[in-house]
Amino acid sequence: TKLRVGLLFGGCSGEHEVSIRSARAIANALNTDPNPSKYEVLPFYIQKDGRWQSPDIAQSVLESGVPLPSEETGSPTTRTHLWQFPPLAAEIDVWFPILHGPNGEDGTIQGLLQLMQVPYVGSGVLASSVGMDKIAMKSAFAQAGLAQVKYMTVNRSQVWSNPCVYPKLCDEIEATLGYPCFVKPANLGSSVGIAKVRSRAQLEAALDSAASYDRRLIVEAGVVAREVECAVLGNDQAQASIVGEITYNSDFYDYETKYTEGRADLHIPALLPEAIAAQVQTLALQAFAAVDAAGLARIDFFYVESTGEVLINEINTLPGFTATSMYPQLWAASGVAFPTLVDQLIQFALERHS
Ligand code: ATP
Ligand code: MG
Ligand code: MG
Ligand code: MG
Repeated sequence: TKLRVGLLFGGCSGEHEVSIRSARAIANALNTDPNPSKYEVLPFYIQKDGRWQSPDIAQSVLESGVPLPSEETGSPTTRTHLWQFPPLAAEIDVWFPILHGPNGEDGTIQGLLQLMQVPYVGSGVLASSVGMDKIAMKSAFAQAGLAQVKYMTVNRSQVWSNPCVYPKLCDEIEATLGYPCFVKPANLGSSVGIAKVRSRAQLEAALDSAASYDRRLIVEAGVVAREVECAVLGNDQAQASIVGEITYNSDFYDYETKYTEGRADLHIPALLPEAIAAQVQTLALQAFAAVDAAGLARIDFFYVESTGEVLINEINTLPGFTATSMYPQLWAASGVAFPTLVDQLIQFALERHS
Protein backbone atom coordinates (compact mmCIF):
# COMPACT_ATOMS: atom_id res chain seq x y z
CA THR A 1 0.00 0.00 0.00
CA LYS A 2 1.13 3.51 -0.76
CA LEU A 3 2.12 6.04 1.86
CA ARG A 4 -0.11 9.09 1.91
CA VAL A 5 1.99 12.26 1.74
CA GLY A 6 0.32 15.48 2.88
CA LEU A 7 1.93 18.30 0.94
CA LEU A 8 1.31 21.40 3.02
CA PHE A 9 1.84 24.75 1.30
CA GLY A 10 0.81 28.41 1.12
CA GLY A 11 0.75 29.77 4.67
CA CYS A 12 0.35 33.05 6.55
CA SER A 13 3.59 34.59 5.38
CA GLY A 14 5.08 37.03 2.93
CA GLU A 15 6.60 33.99 1.22
CA HIS A 16 3.18 32.49 0.37
CA GLU A 17 3.67 32.74 -3.39
CA VAL A 18 7.12 31.16 -3.23
CA SER A 19 5.62 28.30 -1.23
CA ILE A 20 3.09 27.62 -4.00
CA ARG A 21 5.95 27.37 -6.49
CA SER A 22 7.97 25.08 -4.23
CA ALA A 23 4.93 22.84 -3.66
CA ARG A 24 4.26 22.59 -7.36
CA ALA A 25 7.80 21.33 -7.98
CA ILE A 26 7.52 18.79 -5.14
CA ALA A 27 4.10 17.57 -6.36
CA ASN A 28 5.66 17.00 -9.80
CA ALA A 29 8.54 15.09 -8.23
CA LEU A 30 6.10 12.88 -6.31
CA ASN A 31 4.55 12.01 -9.66
CA THR A 32 7.93 11.11 -11.16
CA ASP A 33 9.42 7.59 -11.03
CA PRO A 34 9.95 5.80 -8.73
CA ASN A 35 7.78 7.88 -6.38
CA PRO A 36 4.24 7.14 -7.68
CA SER A 37 4.64 3.47 -6.78
CA LYS A 38 5.51 4.41 -3.18
CA TYR A 39 3.55 7.57 -2.43
CA GLU A 40 0.12 9.06 -2.95
CA VAL A 41 0.27 12.85 -2.73
CA LEU A 42 -2.56 14.83 -1.13
CA PRO A 43 -2.02 18.60 -1.26
CA PHE A 44 -3.33 20.87 1.51
CA TYR A 45 -3.34 24.61 1.01
CA ILE A 46 -3.17 27.14 3.85
CA GLN A 47 -4.63 30.46 2.75
CA LYS A 48 -2.94 33.71 3.73
CA ASP A 49 -5.67 34.14 6.36
CA GLY A 50 -4.81 30.75 7.87
CA ARG A 51 -7.69 28.60 6.64
CA TRP A 52 -6.86 25.10 5.45
CA GLN A 53 -8.20 23.96 2.09
CA SER A 54 -8.82 20.36 1.07
CA PRO A 55 -6.92 18.53 -1.71
CA ASP A 56 -9.38 19.42 -4.50
CA ILE A 57 -9.05 23.17 -3.90
CA ALA A 58 -5.33 22.83 -3.09
CA GLN A 59 -4.79 21.06 -6.41
CA SER A 60 -6.40 23.91 -8.33
CA VAL A 61 -4.15 26.43 -6.54
CA LEU A 62 -1.12 24.31 -7.41
CA GLU A 63 -2.18 24.27 -11.04
CA SER A 64 -3.07 27.96 -11.36
CA GLY A 65 -0.26 29.21 -9.11
CA VAL A 66 -2.66 31.92 -7.93
CA PRO A 67 -3.38 32.36 -4.17
CA LEU A 68 -7.00 32.30 -2.98
CA PRO A 69 -8.16 35.64 -1.58
CA SER A 70 -8.20 36.04 2.21
CA GLU A 71 -11.18 36.77 4.38
CA GLU A 72 -11.41 38.56 7.71
CA THR A 73 -10.43 36.13 10.48
CA GLY A 74 -10.36 38.55 13.37
CA SER A 75 -13.56 37.52 15.15
CA PRO A 76 -13.80 34.41 17.34
CA THR A 77 -16.37 32.76 15.05
CA THR A 78 -14.26 33.14 11.92
CA ARG A 79 -11.16 32.07 13.83
CA THR A 80 -12.65 28.60 14.36
CA HIS A 81 -11.89 27.99 10.66
CA LEU A 82 -8.22 28.00 11.60
CA TRP A 83 -8.40 24.68 13.41
CA GLN A 84 -11.04 22.99 11.28
CA PHE A 85 -8.82 20.81 9.18
CA PRO A 86 -10.18 19.14 6.06
CA PRO A 87 -11.25 15.57 7.03
CA LEU A 88 -8.63 13.99 4.77
CA ALA A 89 -5.91 15.52 6.97
CA ALA A 90 -6.61 12.70 9.45
CA GLU A 91 -5.50 10.13 6.86
CA ILE A 92 -2.01 11.42 6.19
CA ASP A 93 0.93 9.08 6.89
CA VAL A 94 3.68 11.68 6.54
CA TRP A 95 3.52 15.47 6.17
CA PHE A 96 5.71 17.45 3.82
CA PRO A 97 5.40 21.07 5.00
CA ILE A 98 6.84 23.37 2.36
CA LEU A 99 5.96 26.68 3.97
CA HIS A 100 8.55 29.44 3.98
CA GLY A 101 8.93 32.17 6.59
CA PRO A 102 6.72 32.93 9.63
CA ASN A 103 3.94 30.46 10.56
CA GLY A 104 5.57 27.67 8.61
CA GLU A 105 9.35 27.64 8.83
CA ASP A 106 9.44 28.89 12.42
CA GLY A 107 8.26 25.90 14.45
CA THR A 108 4.58 26.79 14.68
CA ILE A 109 3.38 24.28 12.07
CA GLN A 110 6.00 21.82 13.29
CA GLY A 111 4.40 22.01 16.75
CA LEU A 112 0.99 21.25 15.27
CA LEU A 113 2.31 18.27 13.30
CA GLN A 114 4.15 17.07 16.41
CA LEU A 115 0.85 17.13 18.32
CA MET A 116 -0.83 15.20 15.49
CA GLN A 117 1.83 12.49 16.10
CA VAL A 118 2.45 12.06 12.40
CA PRO A 119 5.99 12.15 10.91
CA TYR A 120 6.91 15.29 9.00
CA VAL A 121 9.73 16.35 6.72
CA GLY A 122 12.37 18.69 8.07
CA SER A 123 13.34 20.21 11.38
CA GLY A 124 11.37 19.98 14.61
CA VAL A 125 10.05 22.85 16.72
CA LEU A 126 13.35 23.93 18.28
CA ALA A 127 15.53 24.05 15.16
CA SER A 128 12.77 25.69 13.16
CA SER A 129 12.22 28.50 15.64
CA VAL A 130 15.91 29.04 16.42
CA GLY A 131 16.69 29.01 12.69
CA MET A 132 14.01 31.57 11.91
CA ASP A 133 14.86 34.01 14.69
CA LYS A 134 18.09 35.70 13.63
CA ILE A 135 18.90 36.74 17.21
CA ALA A 136 18.52 33.22 18.66
CA MET A 137 20.25 31.80 15.58
CA LYS A 138 23.31 34.02 16.01
CA SER A 139 23.56 33.08 19.70
CA ALA A 140 23.50 29.38 18.82
CA PHE A 141 26.14 29.87 16.13
CA ALA A 142 28.34 31.94 18.44
CA GLN A 143 28.08 29.21 21.08
CA ALA A 144 29.20 26.69 18.45
CA GLY A 145 32.23 28.87 17.66
CA LEU A 146 31.14 29.89 14.15
CA ALA A 147 32.48 33.22 12.88
CA GLN A 148 29.83 35.85 12.04
CA VAL A 149 29.53 39.55 11.19
CA LYS A 150 29.38 42.04 14.05
CA TYR A 151 25.78 42.80 15.04
CA MET A 152 23.51 44.49 17.57
CA THR A 153 20.00 43.64 18.64
CA VAL A 154 17.27 46.24 18.91
CA ASN A 155 13.77 46.14 20.37
CA ARG A 156 10.80 47.80 18.69
CA SER A 157 10.12 49.81 21.85
CA GLN A 158 13.55 51.47 21.55
CA VAL A 159 12.63 52.63 18.05
CA TRP A 160 9.04 53.65 18.55
CA SER A 161 8.10 54.64 22.03
CA ASN A 162 11.18 56.16 23.55
CA PRO A 163 12.35 59.41 21.96
CA CYS A 164 15.17 59.76 24.51
CA VAL A 165 16.73 56.39 23.79
CA TYR A 166 16.45 56.54 20.02
CA PRO A 167 19.22 59.03 19.12
CA LYS A 168 21.56 57.27 21.56
CA LEU A 169 20.73 53.97 19.91
CA CYS A 170 21.57 55.34 16.46
CA ASP A 171 24.83 56.83 17.82
CA GLU A 172 25.73 53.45 19.24
CA ILE A 173 24.96 51.64 15.98
CA GLU A 174 27.12 54.13 14.06
CA ALA A 175 29.98 53.79 16.53
CA THR A 176 29.83 49.99 16.78
CA LEU A 177 28.92 48.92 13.25
CA GLY A 178 29.41 51.92 10.97
CA TYR A 179 28.07 52.15 7.43
CA PRO A 180 26.94 50.40 5.41
CA CYS A 181 24.96 48.26 7.80
CA PHE A 182 21.94 46.01 7.36
CA VAL A 183 18.73 46.44 9.35
CA LYS A 184 16.60 43.29 9.57
CA PRO A 185 13.44 42.14 11.31
CA ALA A 186 14.52 39.16 13.48
CA ASN A 187 11.95 36.71 12.13
CA LEU A 188 11.50 36.83 8.38
CA GLY A 189 12.93 35.53 5.12
CA SER A 190 13.25 36.32 1.42
CA SER A 191 14.86 39.64 2.43
CA VAL A 192 11.42 41.00 3.41
CA GLY A 193 11.85 44.11 5.59
CA ILE A 194 15.65 44.19 5.16
CA ALA A 195 17.43 47.44 4.27
CA LYS A 196 21.03 48.32 3.53
CA VAL A 197 21.74 51.74 4.98
CA ARG A 198 24.52 54.24 4.44
CA SER A 199 23.50 57.29 6.47
CA ARG A 200 21.79 58.37 9.67
CA ALA A 201 18.60 59.28 7.81
CA GLN A 202 18.48 55.88 6.10
CA LEU A 203 19.22 54.14 9.40
CA GLU A 204 16.32 55.89 11.14
CA ALA A 205 13.92 55.10 8.30
CA ALA A 206 15.05 51.46 8.13
CA LEU A 207 14.69 50.93 11.89
CA ASP A 208 11.22 52.44 11.78
CA SER A 209 10.20 50.27 8.85
CA ALA A 210 11.72 47.02 10.18
CA ALA A 211 9.96 47.62 13.50
CA SER A 212 6.64 47.35 11.69
CA TYR A 213 7.50 43.74 10.71
CA ASP A 214 8.79 42.45 14.02
CA ARG A 215 9.10 43.29 17.70
CA ARG A 216 12.80 42.47 17.58
CA LEU A 217 15.36 43.69 15.06
CA ILE A 218 18.97 43.00 14.27
CA VAL A 219 21.49 45.41 12.80
CA GLU A 220 24.60 43.94 11.18
CA ALA A 221 27.86 45.40 9.92
CA GLY A 222 27.85 45.15 6.14
CA VAL A 223 30.61 43.02 4.63
CA VAL A 224 31.98 43.02 1.11
CA ALA A 225 31.88 39.36 0.31
CA ARG A 226 30.87 36.64 -2.09
CA GLU A 227 27.66 34.82 -1.17
CA VAL A 228 28.06 31.06 -1.06
CA GLU A 229 25.52 28.46 0.00
CA CYS A 230 25.62 24.82 0.99
CA ALA A 231 22.75 22.31 1.19
CA VAL A 232 22.53 19.77 4.00
CA LEU A 233 20.48 16.56 3.84
CA GLY A 234 19.90 13.93 6.52
CA ASN A 235 19.40 13.56 10.26
CA ASP A 236 22.18 12.69 12.71
CA GLN A 237 24.55 11.65 9.90
CA ALA A 238 23.66 14.55 7.61
CA GLN A 239 25.65 15.19 4.44
CA ALA A 240 26.76 18.47 2.87
CA SER A 241 26.32 19.15 -0.85
CA ILE A 242 28.83 20.80 -3.11
CA VAL A 243 28.96 24.57 -2.63
CA GLY A 244 27.14 27.09 -4.82
CA GLU A 245 27.42 30.84 -5.28
CA ILE A 246 24.92 33.58 -6.04
CA THR A 247 25.74 36.65 -8.09
CA TYR A 248 23.43 39.51 -9.01
CA ASN A 249 23.41 43.01 -10.37
CA SER A 250 21.77 44.90 -7.53
CA ASP A 251 22.76 46.57 -4.30
CA PHE A 252 22.18 43.36 -2.33
CA TYR A 253 20.24 40.12 -2.66
CA ASP A 254 16.84 41.69 -1.99
CA TYR A 255 13.32 40.30 -2.60
CA GLU A 256 13.06 41.59 -6.13
CA THR A 257 16.45 40.19 -7.11
CA LYS A 258 15.52 36.83 -5.57
CA TYR A 259 12.23 36.41 -7.38
CA THR A 260 12.54 38.28 -10.65
CA GLU A 261 13.50 35.96 -13.47
CA GLY A 262 17.03 36.61 -14.69
CA ARG A 263 18.12 39.01 -11.93
CA ALA A 264 20.36 36.57 -10.08
CA ASP A 265 22.63 33.78 -11.25
CA LEU A 266 23.43 30.54 -9.47
CA HIS A 267 26.92 29.13 -10.00
CA ILE A 268 27.21 25.46 -9.19
CA PRO A 269 29.80 24.57 -8.16
CA ALA A 270 31.13 27.88 -6.87
CA LEU A 271 34.59 28.67 -8.18
CA LEU A 272 36.40 28.55 -4.84
CA PRO A 273 39.77 27.31 -3.63
CA GLU A 274 39.26 23.67 -2.63
CA ALA A 275 40.12 24.35 1.00
CA ILE A 276 37.48 27.10 1.21
CA ALA A 277 34.79 24.87 -0.30
CA ALA A 278 35.71 22.13 2.17
CA GLN A 279 35.57 24.64 5.03
CA VAL A 280 32.11 25.81 3.94
CA GLN A 281 30.87 22.20 3.98
CA THR A 282 32.29 21.59 7.44
CA LEU A 283 30.80 24.83 8.78
CA ALA A 284 27.43 23.98 7.19
CA LEU A 285 27.30 20.67 9.05
CA GLN A 286 28.34 22.39 12.30
CA ALA A 287 25.58 25.01 11.84
CA PHE A 288 23.04 22.27 11.13
CA ALA A 289 23.99 20.52 14.36
CA ALA A 290 24.20 23.79 16.32
CA VAL A 291 20.45 24.41 16.00
CA ASP A 292 19.59 20.65 15.99
CA ALA A 293 18.22 20.79 12.44
CA ALA A 294 16.86 17.67 10.72
CA GLY A 295 16.07 16.55 7.20
CA LEU A 296 17.16 19.56 5.22
CA ALA A 297 18.60 23.04 5.48
CA ARG A 298 20.38 25.54 3.29
CA ILE A 299 23.21 27.33 5.04
CA ASP A 300 24.37 30.67 3.65
CA PHE A 301 27.83 32.19 4.06
CA PHE A 302 29.82 35.31 3.27
CA TYR A 303 33.22 34.50 1.79
CA VAL A 304 35.45 37.55 2.30
CA GLU A 305 37.92 37.00 -0.48
CA SER A 306 40.37 39.71 0.66
CA THR A 307 40.98 38.03 4.04
CA GLY A 308 40.01 34.44 3.23
CA GLU A 309 37.42 34.50 6.03
CA VAL A 310 34.21 32.48 5.83
CA LEU A 311 31.42 34.01 7.94
CA ILE A 312 28.11 32.27 8.46
CA ASN A 313 25.11 34.41 7.50
CA GLU A 314 22.18 32.14 8.28
CA ILE A 315 20.43 28.80 8.17
CA ASN A 316 17.14 28.29 6.30
CA THR A 317 15.36 25.17 7.54
CA LEU A 318 12.75 25.23 4.73
CA PRO A 319 14.67 26.76 1.83
CA GLY A 320 13.13 27.65 -1.52
CA PHE A 321 12.32 24.40 -3.31
CA THR A 322 11.25 25.38 -6.82
CA ALA A 323 12.78 23.52 -9.75
CA THR A 324 15.35 26.33 -10.12
CA SER A 325 16.04 26.94 -6.41
CA MET A 326 19.52 26.61 -4.96
CA TYR A 327 18.72 23.74 -2.56
CA PRO A 328 17.55 21.14 -5.11
CA GLN A 329 20.06 22.39 -7.68
CA LEU A 330 22.95 21.84 -5.26
CA TRP A 331 21.79 18.27 -4.69
CA ALA A 332 21.24 17.63 -8.38
CA ALA A 333 24.85 18.71 -8.98
CA SER A 334 25.94 16.48 -6.09
CA GLY A 335 24.27 13.46 -7.71
CA VAL A 336 20.82 13.49 -6.07
CA ALA A 337 18.13 14.19 -8.66
CA PHE A 338 14.98 16.13 -7.62
CA PRO A 339 12.59 13.11 -7.36
CA THR A 340 15.21 11.15 -5.38
CA LEU A 341 15.76 14.14 -3.09
CA VAL A 342 12.03 14.31 -2.30
CA ASP A 343 11.96 10.55 -1.68
CA GLN A 344 14.95 10.77 0.67
CA LEU A 345 13.45 13.65 2.62
CA ILE A 346 10.31 11.59 3.25
CA GLN A 347 12.42 8.60 4.30
CA PHE A 348 14.41 10.81 6.72
CA ALA A 349 11.12 12.04 8.19
CA LEU A 350 10.02 8.45 8.83
CA GLU A 351 13.42 7.53 10.27
CA ARG A 352 13.33 10.46 12.69
CA HIS A 353 9.84 9.64 13.88
CA SER A 354 10.44 5.91 14.41
P1 ATP B 1 16.49 34.16 2.86
O1 ATP B 1 15.57 34.44 1.72
O2 ATP B 1 17.76 33.47 2.39
O3 ATP B 1 15.85 33.51 4.01
P2 ATP B 1 16.74 36.45 4.65
O4 ATP B 1 15.50 37.22 4.48
O5 ATP B 1 16.86 35.57 5.84
O6 ATP B 1 17.05 35.61 3.34
P3 ATP B 1 19.49 37.48 4.82
O7 ATP B 1 20.04 36.28 4.17
O8 ATP B 1 19.87 37.72 6.24
O9 ATP B 1 17.90 37.55 4.67
O10 ATP B 1 19.91 38.78 3.98
C1 ATP B 1 19.49 38.94 2.65
C2 ATP B 1 20.62 39.44 1.78
O11 ATP B 1 21.09 40.71 2.25
C3 ATP B 1 21.86 38.57 1.77
O12 ATP B 1 21.73 37.51 0.86
C4 ATP B 1 22.93 39.60 1.35
O13 ATP B 1 22.84 39.90 -0.04
C5 ATP B 1 22.49 40.83 2.08
N1 ATP B 1 23.11 40.91 3.43
C6 ATP B 1 22.50 40.58 4.58
N2 ATP B 1 23.30 40.80 5.64
C7 ATP B 1 24.45 41.27 5.14
C8 ATP B 1 25.69 41.72 5.73
N3 ATP B 1 25.85 41.71 7.06
N4 ATP B 1 26.67 42.15 4.91
C9 ATP B 1 26.49 42.15 3.55
N5 ATP B 1 25.36 41.76 2.95
C10 ATP B 1 24.34 41.34 3.72
MG1 MG C 1 16.74 33.47 5.85
MG1 MG D 1 14.48 31.97 4.20
MG1 MG E 1 19.40 34.61 3.17
